[in-house]
Amino acid sequence: MSVSAYFDQMSYGPAPEADTEARNWLKHHHSTFGHFINGAFRPSTWGKTFPAFEPATGKELAMFAAGSAEDVDGAVSAARKAQGAWAKLPGHQRARHLYAIARMIQRHGRLLAVVEAIDNGKPVRETRDIDIPLAARHFYHHAGWAQLQETEFADHTPVGVVGQIIPWNFPLLMLAWKVAPALALGNTVVLKPAEFTSLTALLFAELAAAAGLPPGVLNIVTGEGDTGALLVDHPGIDKIAFTGSTEVGRVIRQKTAGSGKSLTLELGGKSPFIVFDDADIDGAVEGVVDAIWFNQGQVCCAGSRLLVQEGIAPKFLARLRRRMQTLRVGQPLDKCLDMGAIVAPVQLKRIEALVNQGVEEGAEIYQAEIDLPKGGSFYRPTLLWNVQPTSIVATEEIFGPVAVAMTFRTPDEAIQLANHSRYGLAASVWSETIGLALHVAAKLSAGVVWVNATNLFDAAAGFGGKKESGFGREGGREGAYEYLKPKAWANAKPRAEIAVPQLKNTTGDFAAPLVDRTAKLYVGGKQARPDGNYNRPILSPKGKVIGEVGEGNRKDIRNAVAAAQSAASWTGATAHNRAQILYYIAENLAAREEEFAARIAVQTGRSASSAKAEVDMSISRLFTYGAWADKFDGQVHTPPLRGVALALPEAQGVVGVVCPPEAPLLGLVSLVAPLIAMGNRVVTVPSEPHPLSATDFYTVLETSDLPGGVINIVTGSAMELGKALASHNDVDALWAFGSAELSTMAEKASVGNLKRVFTDYGKAWDWMDPAQGEGSLYLRRATDVKNVWIPYGE
Ligand code: NDP
Repeated sequence: MSVSAYFDQMSYGPAPEADTEARNWLKHHHSTFGHFINGAFRPSTWGKTFPAFEPATGKELAMFAAGSAEDVDGAVSAARKAQGAWAKLPGHQRARHLYAIARMIQRHGRLLAVVEAIDNGKPVRETRDIDIPLAARHFYHHAGWAQLQETEFADHTPVGVVGQIIPWNFPLLMLAWKVAPALALGNTVVLKPAEFTSLTALLFAELAAAAGLPPGVLNIVTGEGDTGALLVDHPGIDKIAFTGSTEVGRVIRQKTAGSGKSLTLELGGKSPFIVFDDADIDGAVEGVVDAIWFNQGQVCCAGSRLLVQEGIAPKFLARLRRRMQTLRVGQPLDKCLDMGAIVAPVQLKRIEALVNQGVEEGAEIYQAEIDLPKGGSFYRPTLLWNVQPTSIVATEEIFGPVAVAMTFRTPDEAIQLANHSRYGLAASVWSETIGLALHVAAKLSAGVVWVNATNLFDAAAGFGGKKESGFGREGGREGAYEYLKPKAWANAKPRAEIAVPQLKNTTGDFAAPLVDRTAKLYVGGKQARPDGNYNRPILSPKGKVIGEVGEGNRKDIRNAVAAAQSAASWTGATAHNRAQILYYIAENLAAREEEFAARIAVQTGRSASSAKAEVDMSISRLFTYGAWADKFDGQVHTPPLRGVALALPEAQGVVGVVCPPEAPLLGLVSLVAPLIAMGNRVVTVPSEPHPLSATDFYTVLETSDLPGGVINIVTGSAMELGKALASHNDVDALWAFGSAELSTMAEKASVGNLKRVFTDYGKAWDWMDPAQGEGSLYLRRATDVKNVWIPYGE
């Protein structure tokens, strides 16, 4: 080719990264690896192994031990043995260990980058510039939390032994996201990498040991899904942290239900990438490249749903197609690549099948007409447009290099389309009008929103989702809390069962009831008769009928949830306004203190002074959350870019609350007040044996300017109504306090929309003790942190 032709095309040849060091490392291990347990490699106890292949060539890369029950048990025992001493180390010592690991990652960054590229198929440009530096950054950041733990988390202790299960799309980075906070805060770890990509986890374990990490603190058990399941089921595990598909996340939620194991799930996504007509079009086109062709689109937060404002759609898609023509797909070790190989043939087939189905459903398709390498699992950058929002390609996670384009007309329609997904992980908004971009960012149901940017990550800014994208955050302060438990609840004892006196058999006895008022339910700001028209008598401890309440059923819960949903303006109300109403409720309660105290005494048989103390504490607690309403606010992170990330605690939405049987008024106030202070709307099932304080309480609400639907009260069976709340897909979170059976049911039945459950596992907390019954412990659970990234500059 002539020189002038080169200038015309600006094409360039391959620039491969050397893989000698990586191949030597594999040779050193004879390309055969055991588990890494208690500081050393160990073969599998049952001798079973499995191979992994190079995605770019299809050649066998190495053999790994398949983790058996005995292997998992050995790793958990090693982690347990190491945990006490590791947690007892001063934070500074743990900080030094994490710092040493971070340095080790940097020192061996090139080796790690090459091994990762060979093993996963992703371009070395990405492993070198993104995966590995970010992994090191996570260890640096969390070395900091270890250093600050004694002051910043003084009222918390480590969770204990943590089981971590990670996927294949960012093997080392996902490890870093999980291992760094766990170790920093005094936990020990058993980690199972994905079967396709175990190499960098094992290399990391070797490097960490060489950096002086004590044996047993970090253990790696390789294996397939069955090995992950063994880890989930192991009774010696205190917490499971999982990243992967929503399907497996759901299985894990069900299996851990009621076990008391703490759980965080980072699952799939179908993230919107919204382009307004005033966006910088070239910038946004480049954004799409980073959103969906980064890592071959195998990214949980990939901007896979491209929503373009109608007026610019033809121009935008034309420029995007032109840009697609210039993308380079090739061998991962070539440093001049945009895309490498898909992780495995099975994934490639899945992508092909989904795209074919999308086309059958009417989508138009454009695939870059570029050369693909022979052999290996490669797929062309693909754009589908004219896609219906209900098409499978618009709803399912494709997990491949496939952008799916739709159009919208107005900002409201963009928001509606964007939120029309069972997922809620991330979103990108492109507009040069900052007011519009931030307005939309606030309304998106997602854990992370990037304004005029995409796929930005930093260890200081939490990452995680809403809805079926899972719960919990990784990174930042909010991520640190996921590896800690409050000291205040550590010694809680199982709740003594409250004997509920039974009414003598009264069948056929039509005598007039002893009380003439039946307390109704409270739905949408109005007293409502129960759907079934049944009532239940409420008895004093001595068996005397002291009142009657409605027997709520599923239908009543449905009505209450609908009322709570339509009270969405409460979430948008100012914190000042919410605080004022909480104070007003407290004031009105104070005016009726004696009456409320008498009611508590007669229901529970407790002394007048104890009942009065409960009312006084309830008033104080309402004040506490009135105080917090405008003070529990976010943070501004300054990640390593020109810009900020706003960490905003957001209300979860509609929250179901099953109140504990004891403390009829204070139990309800302690749970409902933090939730409404943060802008949630609640559907509450009051104490089952003592519901009259709650039915009295709504008469206080009626005079306190609380908008209808913010607090709804449905009396009846805690178990039955709790189940209706747990399985309701429009309930965004559930707080369930009571028996251990209630906790198990709540966690099991909540898998539909994967709502987060906050429960006491049948342990009793002292609601009169502010350390146990109030404060930021509750406010954190009443909110999810949304990180809004706003880069700035020219
Ligand atoms: P999985 O959810 O199956 O795998 C994630 C991890 O969980 C792997 O380590 C896997 O082991 C392990 N695992 C599998 N089954 C179980 C189980 N029953 N109990 C405990 N652990 C288990 O994802 P896949 O790798 O199969 O990918 C399938 C789809 O999931 C993708 O196409 C994509 O849509 C989505 N996905 C989403 C990710 C995200 O980050 N949101 C990441 C990866 C996938 P093993 O590797 O041996 O199967």
